[in-house]
Amino acid sequence: MSGRMEGKTAVITGGTSGIGEATAEVFVAEGARVIIAGRSEEKGQRLADRLGKNAIYQRADVSREEDIRNLISSAVDRFGRLDCLFNNAGGPSRGTLETVTQEDFEYSMNLLLGSAVFGIKHAAPVMKEQGSGSIINTSSIAAIRSGQGQYLYSVAKAAVTHLTRLCGLELGPFGIRVNAISPGAIATPIFWGGSEMANILSEEDNERKMEKLKKSLARATPLPRAGFAEDIAYAALYLASDEGSFVNCQDIVVDGGRTVMFNEPS
Ligand code: NAP
Repeated sequence: MSGRMEGKTAVITGGTSGIGEATAEVFVAEGARVIIAGRSEEKGQRLADRLGKNAIYQRADVSREEDIRNLISSAVDRFGRLDCLFNNAGGPSRGTLETVTQEDFEYSMNLLLGSAVFGIKHAAPVMKEQGSGSIINTSSIAAIRSGQGQYLYSVAKAAVTHLTRLCGLELGPFGIRVNAISPGAIATPIFWGGSEMANILSEEDNERKMEKLKKSLARATPLPRAGFAEDIAYAALYLASDEGSFVNCQDIVVDGGRTVMFNEPS
């Protein structure tokens, strides 16, 4: 099937790497016009150039409300509407239970939870006016099980999952669906420090890390392979397209069965 996003527009945060990058590729291939957001200007521009006229890169730091507001208004200015907001940007949190500082807390919550809160805040009025929209938040299996992510990362993602339910209830009557995707272990640079680290390593070093990661993740999932960014991109495509038009307030776990492996306390 193709053209599943024909006539639709999307803002994808964290579009410069991993899951967001794969989603931008899939959405454009399916006919969407997208704004790819992230802080890595070179990477974002390179991706937009590769995807062609239906992709625009815009620099944004999602821990800043103003940058998020600008992303939403750019979608409206350039495309005249906003059909999908994919609140996907994220990265490692800071601090442990006993070392966490006020600064670590604010950094982690602004990045992982504030980005979704403010994304929804600014997308909602535009989507209400249209009478439709799909908001997708990237949560995590760290929100469901222990031992799947850092301390504040897991706490913030649990909040993202519940935020999804509350906002889906509140916005549903306006034709706006709000859902989350909880990826399991997906092979992306987040495992070696996110794009901040990936940006300073050479291409060869990044590739070497990726190959090693794929092998180790394949051993940590019931299915005999690692999860790939595309696995999440296709879940996002389902939620963003009309095929997902009766799905609201849900957290879709895409983890190859990993959460089931962690049912029993170890
Ligand atoms: P990734 O390859 O490291 O990508 C992270 C993306 O987030 C990058 O595009 C990065 O762009 C962006 N980002 C980070 N901080 C940002 C900021 N302050 N402002 C704007 N953009 C920012 O990792 P990924 O695995 O694709 O992660 C995507 C999402 O999936 C995250 O929310 C992550 O928590 C979630 N997740 C991942 C996994 C996994 O196993 N990979 C599992 C569960 C959940 P710039 O550096 O260019 O800003």
